[in-house]
Amino acid sequence: MNRFFLPIQFIQEKQVLFPPDLTHQILNVLRLNVGDLVQVLDNQGNVFDVVLGEGSKDGKLTGWIQTRKREDSESQVNITLFFGLTSREKVEWILQKGTEIGVSSFQPFISARSLVQSTKLGDQKTLRWKRIIREAAEQSRRGLLPELCPPLTLQACLTKAGKEYDLCLLAWEEAGSEGMDIRCAVSDKGKLNEHTALFVGPEGGFTGEEVTLAESCGCQVVSLGRRILRMETAAILFPALVLYELQRV
Ligand code: SAH
Repeated sequence: MNRFFLPIQFIQEKQVLFPPDLTHQILNVLRLNVGDLVQVLDNQGNVFDVVLGEGSKDGKLTGWIQTRKREDSESQVNITLFFGLTSREKVEWILQKGTEIGVSSFQPFISARSLVQSTKLGDQKTLRWKRIIREAAEQSRRGLLPELCPPLTLQACLTKAGKEYDLCLLAWEEAGSEGMDIRCAVSDKGKLNEHTALFVGPEGGFTGEEVTLAESCGCQVVSLGRRILRMETAAILFPALVLYELQRV
């Protein structure tokens, strides 16, 4: 069944009004018809079964709400994935796969060795990346849309993580056998319903000074194993492992 996140102002008591871009997608791309059933999400954890009404010539489409229930696919683990800003393709892959596995929020950063060195994204890229997240959230049956935060410097991210998160972990390939493994770090401090910050470095990795700074901000350095992963692999494996560990408790 097709699912669509809709801004709350388009959802009324008995009906929903589809905005023009969605109307176009529903009628012209998906070729759905009057009477077809779709699901609408309000990004507050509710999902509505909606029967499509007649589309008007000026592009207006109404749907009639049949049922409303809570969407229970969201996990109780709240993860923000901090990652080094990199090429468009890699970022898009990270956003799509991260959304599927259950990341709550994405925070790109620039650091000494990141491929991209400007925090400016541009409106077009921001819109495109939010759309990728929305489509992945619809496809994977998320009840809440992950947030995309504007890029910051690594330093600003570490300060933010130190203050606002209950658990903060940074993946460092040099952590070696001295680095805590994820299971210990999570079972030690991780709790359901708390906020967890995960940091994955850029292709060039973190510098020693960056790791020291992270530790001074309260981050625990962890290893993802003895092999070196590409950043986009680490960006998926890391939250997946933390979700797995946290959901077991
Ligand atoms: N340039 C480095 C590798 C960077 S990999 C080198 O070639 O030595 C990119 C990012 O993925 C790293 O900054 C780290 O956050 C993460 N990463 C990759 N493999 C890892 C591992 N085995 N343990 C912890 N983090 C890892």
